[in-house]
This record gives sequence, structure tokens and C-alpha cells, in this order.
Amino acid sequence: MQAKTPGHLFVVSAPSGVGKTTLLRRVLQDVPGLRYSVSCTTRSPRPGEEDATDYFFLSREEFEDGIRSGRFLEWARVHGNYYGTDGRVVEEWLHAGWDVLLEIDVQGARQVRVHHPSATTIFILPPSMEVLRQRLQARGTESPEQLEMRLEAARSELREAPWYDYLVVNDALDEAVQDLAAIFRACRCRRRRSAPALRSLLETP
Ligand code: 5GP
Repeated sequence: MQAKTPGHLFVVSAPSGVGKTTLLRRVLQDVPGLRYSVSCTTRSPRPGEEDATDYFFLSREEFEDGIRSGRFLEWARVHGNYYGTDGRVVEEWLHAGWDVLLEIDVQGARQVRVHHPSATTIFILPPSMEVLRQRLQARGTESPEQLEMRLEAARSELREAPWYDYLVVNDALDEAVQDLAAIFRACRCRRRRSAPALRSLLETP
């Protein structure tokens, strides 16, 4: 029996408020075979967020235990809270042949590049800083101080964008969804070079 080709790891980063949640939800509907890794965090749920769907909401103690026991593929402190990716789940999915999507910050992306140098990294840009401010304000979940903190964090995250493989601008949602879906498809076509299917075609007399 042919060994299953392991899945591919995709990392998406975007400053808070760029609209990545809506964007990624659409892409996950459109691209088959792609699984979203639900992160762990110590921040409180926002209205409408559900445990195990949006995040696994952990206490600080649970998260710090996880750090000590090596539970996380990567983790970081973002806006005063811990965020991290459960490594076991990701490795299991990759092993089973699923492509896996991590939606993590720039610090986490740097750690993933060390462990998975072949991961494809994508950064989502806002059309402008003004639009980013408006989107954060419209969300209405941050106090004015938190809003300024997030905008400042966005500026420093944007400085990391040149290190990513692809940059997608989330201006018109449909266009951004198409750009992202095109990246996933192109990566899959590229990886077919080393897939067993090609080998068996070449070996067929
Ligand atoms: P939010 O609190 O707005 O959901 O997310 C804040 C930031 O945390 C975003 O930049 C998001 O990408 C990042 N983030 C979410 N999950 C993870 C994770 O598992 N690891 C890391 N390093 N960052 C994460």
C-alpha cells in the first residue's frame, strides 16, 4: 500500500482587525481538505465566541502547565494574553494527510518556521491604517486604550510582513478570498512533484 502523503502546513498572520476571521471562514468553506487549528488562549471570550470553536479558553495556570509540558508547537504573549497552538493535534492531522491552517501572530510564525521550514506563510494586510482603525472601532470590543495598543501592535507586526511567502490585501472580501484560495491551490500543485501519484505514473510501463 502506498504511504499517505503528509499534509502541508499553512501559517496566516494578520494584525488584529484586518478581518481575517471572516476571510478564513470563507476560505475554509471553499478549499477542501484544509483544517483549521483552533488555538488556545488565556484571553476572555468575546460576545458570540465559543469554547473549542473560536479558541480553547484556558486559565493562565492551564496554559503555563502546557508550556512546561511542551504541549505547544508555538506560543506567544499577545496584547497581554497567552496564545498557542496545540502541537499534537497539528502533527496528527498533518500525518493523516490534511493540510493544516494556523492563524497565529508574527512571533508564533517565527517559531513555526524553525520547526517546519517548508510551511507556507501568508500575511494579510489592511488596505490602509485608517481602514484598520475604522474596522477595530466598528468591532466595538476594545476600550480606546486597547484600540491604540492594537494599532501600535499592528504597526510592529506589519514590519514582519516582508518575511512571509505571500501578502494578501483584505480590501474587497471576495478578491481576498480568491487570492488565498489561489495560494492554497498553487501550493498543492507544486507539492505534486513529490507525491506518490507522480511516481506511480512514471513507473507505469
Ligand atoms: P484575537 O485576540 O484578536 O483573537 O487575536 C490576537 C492575536 O493573537 C492575533 O494576532 C492572532 O493572530 C494571534 N493568535 C491567535 N491564536 C494564536 C496562536 O495560537 N499563537 C500565536 N502565536 N498567536 C495567536
